[in-house]
Amino acid sequence: MTTTAHDLIFLGPPGAGKGTQARWIVEALGIPQISTGDMLRAARKAGTPLGRQADAYMSAGKLVPDEVVVGLVAERLREADCAGGFLLDGFPRTIPQAEALDAELARHGRKVGMVVALEVEDEALVRRLSGRRTCTACNRIWHLEFDPPPAADRCACGGTLLQRDDDKEATIRNRLRVYHEQTAPLLAYYERQGVLRRVDGSGAADEVRRRVAEVVRGR
Ligand code: AMP
Repeated sequence: MTTTAHDLIFLGPPGAGKGTQARWIVEALGIPQISTGDMLRAARKAGTPLGRQADAYMSAGKLVPDEVVVGLVAERLREADCAGGFLLDGFPRTIPQAEALDAELARHGRKVGMVVALEVEDEALVRRLSGRRTCTACNRIWHLEFDPPPAADRCACGGTLLQRDDDKEATIRNRLRVYHEQTAPLLAYYERQGVLRRVDGSGAADEVRRRVAEVVRGR
């Protein structure tokens, strides 16, 4: 790894649009998107020891233990495609994770270049998340209200749509509580480092995209 300004983090509560916004940024910058949520879901689906360990935490909307996630990310960051930068989405989520990331990057002469914090009110997040449906065949994500699929349980590709376990309302409330308790303190952590950029994440994805583009381009 070499020093780069393209070491980015997307921070925000569940449902803030981190994954959606991250997707076009990584395409524009030619860097990989590293989503710990996606990595853990893949491990769970594949039934690996890591996936089995993470399963109970994820279904309950709790955080997977720091040492598990930190190991996973550190290994991923050492891969060749991260040499020119990366975008972390869903990591770090606790102060110890952020400290471990700083230490790992410092070992390679790098540091976090920018943290984009997407801000959205809790009630809007509950609406966004509870309507989310994922296709089991092609992985496309729909929203019953904002991006409706052909039928409530059917994707345009013909696949079946499912609601993620952790997108059920009681679990969403738990994930939001965990966010406010454990992840929100990272805002002050990165503010102190002078790398935090707050972006209004409310409204349609296109509007948020314009706001994100402004801060990322204005670096
Ligand atoms: P996400 O798709 O980012 O909302 O992540 C889904 C779930 O995976 C979370 O509710 C946690 O259980 C787990 N998870 C993802 N990223 C992390 C992380 N950085 N630290 C701990 N748990 C995580």
